[in-house]
Amino acid sequence: MNARPRTPDMDQFLALLLQRRTALTASLREALSASGQGNPATRGGEVHDWKDDAFAEALKNTQSTEIAHLQTDLAAVRAALQRIEDGTYGDCVDCGREIGRERLQVQPAAPRCLACQQKAELGAAKPRIATGL
Ligand SMILES: [Zn+2]
Repeated sequence: MNARPRTPDMDQFLALLLQRRTALTASLREALSASGQGNPATRGGEVHDWKDDAFAEALKNTQSTEIAHLQTDLAAVRAALQRIEDGTYGDCVDCGREIGRERLQVQPAAPRCLACQQKAELGAAKPRIATGL
């Protein structure tokens, strides 16, 4: 392993990412236990008296969207931490060019440069647009 020497910048991003990972892990744990997924044992014992099933359903959907979001964010943070470990942090995973400090300061877990990110998002959105036409 011959990792690139760490710059003060890298330490700053590492600290940001670790902080974010801690926060996301806590939020995820909270969201999971709120939805009953985190601790199935308490599920049967509690009696939920929902007057409005639609509301309960909507709440469940909101929770699972939130959980999915948190899981995605957490995966991105973990991947970024791995890239710091590998010495490739800050390089775009698609084109290999530098992502740029400004972008990383806003989004420390960003895996791509802005151009590649836009391309990736466009690519992901395309099939939906195509079926809509
Ligand atoms: Zn790129």
